[in-house]
Amino acid sequence: MKDMMDAMTERIHLLDPVVADAIAAGEVIERPAAVVKELIDNALDAGATRITVRARGGGIAAIEVHDNGHGMVPEDLALAFARHATSKVSHLEDLTAIRTRGFRGEALASIAAVSECTITTRHADAAAATSVRARFGSLLPPVSAGRDVGTSVTVENLFGNTPARLRFLKGERGEHAAVLRSVMDAIIAAPGCSIQCEIGEKVALSSRGGELHDVLPAIFGRGDAAKLLPFSGSVDSIHLHGYLSTPLAHHGNRMHLFVLVNGRRIQNAMVQHAIDDAYRGYLPSGRYPFGIVAIDCPPEAVDVNVHPTKRDVRFVEPGTIHRAVHRAVWQVLGSAPVEGLGPGSPSNGRSLLDDAHAADNSPLQSGSFLSESASHIERSTSVQLVLPEAEPRTGPRPSMGSLGPLRAIGQVRNTWIVAEGDAGIVLLDPHAAHEKILYEELRRGLADAAVPVQSLLVPLLVPMDPATVVHVPDIVPLLMSLGVAVDVFGEDMLRCSGVPALGRGHVTEDTIATLVRDLLDRVNPQEERLHRAAALLACHTAVRLGDALDLREQQQLLDLFAITPEALTCPHGRPTCRIISDGEMRRAVGRPLREPLEAR
Ligand code: ADP
Ligand code: MG
Repeated sequence: MKDMMDAMTERIHLLDPVVADAIAAGEVIERPAAVVKELIDNALDAGATRITVRARGGGIAAIEVHDNGHGMVPEDLALAFARHATSKVSHLEDLTAIRTRGFRGEALASIAAVSECTITTRHADAAAATSVRARFGSLLPPVSAGRDVGTSVTVENLFGNTPARLRFLKGERGEHAAVLRSVMDAIIAAPGCSIQCEIGEKVALSSRGGELHDVLPAIFGRGDAAKLLPFSGSVDSIHLHGYLSTPLAHHGNRMHLFVLVNGRRIQNAMVQHAIDDAYRGYLPSGRYPFGIVAIDCPPEAVDVNVHPTKRDVRFVEPGTIHRAVHRAVWQVLGSAPVEGLGPGSPSNGRSLLDDAHAADNSPLQSGSFLSESASHIERSTSVQLVLPEAEPRTGPRPSMGSLGPLRAIGQVRNTWIVAEGDAGIVLLDPHAAHEKILYEELRRGLADAAVPVQSLLVPLLVPMDPATVVHVPDIVPLLMSLGVAVDVFGEDMLRCSGVPALGRGHVTEDTIATLVRDLLDRVNPQEERLHRAAALLACHTAVRLGDALDLREQQQLLDLFAITPEALTCPHGRPTCRIISDGEMRRAVGRPLREPLEAR
């Protein structure tokens, strides 16, 4: 943020045409929420510590924003509505290091052009307040008014002179929800400021101001806020901090992932990619993390003057940002606690944001994957369980807390493995756990082409359409690094003569056909294709729910599980185990948490 002292001493002036022309122009005001965003931005730029927002009739009837910022002197107020009138930049160089939220001097002019807008403001040095009203672009003479130091802006009859605009709006409820999102963005961007939003007569959102941590319940709801883990760190001059959800909590859309750059909410494809990439293999497909990623960098390292509504930015060094975001996610994955984790459930906490986007957030059917596996149980094969030697992972991916050593106790009806560990009683889904172990194994193999191949005595013949077969030679090396030996066997046939020497090996003709199609599916980015391929092979080679495992095999599985990164979720993002802590068990049977030895 620009130094507040600077902002207070700068006076409003018309921008030099050279500077005005260099500003990415465009329509700023597309809906009521945009008015709210611009007015809050102005209040924050004016150093406000308390802001009240009110909206009625979807924000079309009225929007009010009151602040206790430094206000404007009457001469400045006369200029505030003029296009390209700003107190925030003067010179061309200023555009390369913008520290304020506003800088174009366009917002008030654009708002006043399409509404009946009144600004009442009082500067600290002024004896009284002044009020100026504009009706669809024409300015009325200023009048004196009464109010404390600060500024109030009232916008009425929005788009009253451009009725065509109204047709593009989402209805009262949808526009109110969008207004609330603008307010949430502001609460996250300026957590120290006390911000209240009233919709109609009701207080819809209120933040008393504090640290970022204090505003999480207001933004995410109490339930989801509890599932967020903090992170912070720096790469070069880029500093990141915020909160992200653990892999066991997720949403059906990206509405609740807030990315901020120097306090400005943005939507940036590269940052989004970095987040998706780091969570890949840890979340079910179609589910997304939520939280706040705040990136702070020197203003010179980012160009905010690229998008008409300032919604996107351009990074001077995107690679560094990508790396920093990756690390942030890994920090969260690495710090997620293991103790007391219940049967991982998608997050159902409803915050106000959900109202406008409810359709997309249906809870995941928990357990559906297991029943699906169970319905596919085949006759147990005679192939021995082949598990690689246990060795600690040193790769960059962290493990989600450490389970510590686990001791096998037994298997319940050929299904769940019961074990004991530092965290308590561990109930393991052997298929999901083995799947995750093999997935990590295959991912490692992809990196160093090291997955062992088991030759098949009788090769699998896989019928396939000729249009696909012609592309298969392109992916033969990739298949080989996954431990799959495939060659073209006629124009509509593939031959598979080797499968990964991992797990129980339920690789069939269908597995190979799906694998080849997944790897050739150009619709998905490369990284997604590799993830799918590894997840598919892992699923088809893992032990099945229903396979009997002897104690030695159970222990082998547990040893590998304990050292597998992020083992608490399978490659599809579903939980692999349930941990019942001592405390949980004591509560369940009504025993005190601590008791003298003799009472036991
Ligand atoms: P910008 O924010 O890009 O400078 P605006 O049209 O939003 O352009 O505002 C024009 C100018 O009016 C600002 O530069 C600022 O000096 C003044 N201003 C607007 N809103 C306020 C406010 N709430 N408090 C104090 N000054 C304000
Ligand atoms: Mg502004």
